[in-house]
Amino acid sequence: MSNFINPNLPSGELEGGWHTTVKNLTSLTDEKKSKFEIIIVGCGLSGSSAAATLAEEGFKIKLLTYHDSPRRAHSVSAQGGINAARSLSEEKNKIVIDQLFKDTILGGDFRAREASCQRLSELSSSIIDQCVSQGVPFAREYDGTLATRRFGGAVVSRTFYARGQTGQQLLYGAYQALSRQVNCGNIELITKRDVLDLVIVNDVARGVIARNLINGNLETYKAHCVVLATGGYSNVYFLSTNSLKSNATAIWRAHKRGANFANPSFTQIHPTCIPPGGSYQSKLTLMSESLRNDGRIWLPKKINSKDNPENIPENERDYFLERQYPKYGNLVPRDVASRRAKEICEKGFGIGFGGKGVYLDLQDSIKKYGIEVINAKYGNLLEMYERIVGEDPTKVPMKIYPAPHYTMGGLWVDYNLMSNIGGLFVLGEANYSVHGANRLGANALLQCLCDGYFISPKTITSWLANNEEIDNRKIDEACKEALHSVEKKIKVLLKIKGDKPVDYFHRTLGEIMISKCGISRNKNDLIIALDEVERLSNDFKSNLKIPEINSGLNVELEKALRLEDFIELSQLMIKDAIEREESCGAHFREEYQTQEGEAMRNDDLFSHIAVWKFNSYNKTHSRYSEDLTFNKVSLNTRNYK
Ligand SMILES: Cc1cc2nc3c(=O)[nH]c(=O)nc-3n(C[C@H](O)[C@H](O)[C@H](O)COP(=O)(O)OP(=O)(O)OC[C@H]3O[C@@H](n4cnc5c(N)ncnc54)[C@H](O)[C@@H]3O)c2cc1C
Repeated sequence: MSNFINPNLPSGELEGGWHTTVKNLTSLTDEKKSKFEIIIVGCGLSGSSAAATLAEEGFKIKLLTYHDSPRRAHSVSAQGGINAARSLSEEKNKIVIDQLFKDTILGGDFRAREASCQRLSELSSSIIDQCVSQGVPFAREYDGTLATRRFGGAVVSRTFYARGQTGQQLLYGAYQALSRQVNCGNIELITKRDVLDLVIVNDVARGVIARNLINGNLETYKAHCVVLATGGYSNVYFLSTNSLKSNATAIWRAHKRGANFANPSFTQIHPTCIPPGGSYQSKLTLMSESLRNDGRIWLPKKINSKDNPENIPENERDYFLERQYPKYGNLVPRDVASRRAKEICEKGFGIGFGGKGVYLDLQDSIKKYGIEVINAKYGNLLEMYERIVGEDPTKVPMKIYPAPHYTMGGLWVDYNLMSNIGGLFVLGEANYSVHGANRLGANALLQCLCDGYFISPKTITSWLANNEEIDNRKIDEACKEALHSVEKKIKVLLKIKGDKPVDYFHRTLGEIMISKCGISRNKNDLIIALDEVERLSNDFKSNLKIPEINSGLNVELEKALRLEDFIELSQLMIKDAIEREESCGAHFREEYQTQEGEAMRNDDLFSHIAVWKFNSYNKTHSRYSEDLTFNKVSLNTRNYK
């Protein structure tokens, strides 16, 4: 392990390691807490939960978001559910915690830290308690106990849900807690601000630069520490299931100021999305993985079949996941399901626009349980599908296809969720922590809430307790420098005066990335992709067209600023994918596969987190690594057959 990469893992027993850590963290009196100011960027599940908890504990929070309300954060779109290891008996508790731990490590294909996954599993049950106390309306059984369903990569049913609106309900819970603190005056909610740079003084994060999206002014915000909870970067692919504005700007600018980036190429392509209906689509819609509980995935056995699915008899259907994976069937992990769908469609069996689609069929479950039960479980998803596609999925099988969905990669953080820059904490999808090379379905919401409600409030308090000193004069100087650098960047973009809109470049970037750095990758294509992105970047710098106004709303400028960062980030993603000469989880390098087409890891060379450092003096990247060790589960090959 490189010396400067210290994950700060707890020593001693893995089990209970977090409790031991907490005992050793420094606390602060309430009076002292109120003297500290914390900037939190982002109010999705991770940012809102952290802000509410830290404010409840007595800190003063400045919460920034580009949305007009925290309720609009991308977290609101999460559908399927949240995992938790929960049992009514003490005895069984350890068993269920171990199961979730093991599924998380295995799902991530052994590219995450054991200690962090253990903590996630141990805290999971308390997250459900916290949310229930806030009034989150989880689905319940007839006797009142909380209902669960199964998600991919798991043989047990441990996903708690609120119809197909779990993210929305969890976010409303966090939002209530947040609003209380806004009313108490402990949180200053600063909406419609795009954070464009980080202010660093003596290697410590002390502020941010934000653009006011209403009047175009640049503003500086200072604090004792900064938390980034800005979500994932799947929109690098242009077409993704993320909300249109999800972006990488805050973490990318932090990276360029010195925060290391971990495994940028680890991105998850979700198997159950509504396929694009034509070439001008700008957004894809997810159909929750939970549908794979009751939906069977199949394709006609006949190549290029144009028959209506209802007319294809049972013996002419290929339930290819059930055939290839008898144990997990339709509930294999996402990376596996996506690859198999892509392969079979590329062989010509796919259905729908461009032959890029497979059926997800609810008929058998409707016959078994009745339409009311299926509607009660998935009603809003089925309605959403019908509104988009114009077909009733309870009568005609849904068409689905894999689409970019989630980024496991993100800013490197230690066990305390702090980056390598002092006082820069990173939460939720923006960090690289527990998901390894492939996130287990329903673990993202869990991670966001563990980061926000339970972990960061403790570790931030401890860090602040030991870092009280603040040099206001130096902070002002650093703010000036950062402000000037953002101003310069905006001026450069406004001056280009080309003839191609931002979306032209973004769409082209997406096409390069999905075809060469998407579901599967190979060295030749990756090298070509690097060259293509370089050319696209030069074209962007000479031919971008945006309105030359910087005094009010300028949506094209907002998009251009984000795209510039996506272009740079995609170059690092490609480099990372080239360097990792193995297949693991969602990172599938075609050169490294078994005879059955399964991912082939190389644990001797790559049992580590790739950590990328930006060298500002020559604008290059250096790759370092944090070694991973496995004591509780032994390294083995994933087998879902
Ligand atoms: C369609 C869909 C369904 C999903 N379903 C599930 C599910 O069922 N279960 C599960 O576990 N996971 C699910 N996920 C994943 C999960 O929803 C996300 O990983 C999680 O909600 C991310 O939360 P977050 O707090 O990290 O960020 P987000 O919710 O993305 O919030 C980011 C916040 O940062 C702000 N922000 C970003 N950049 C800036 C900037 N530069 N300046 C100012 N503000 C900024 C935004 O305004 C926003 O408030 C799903 C994802 C999608 C796309």
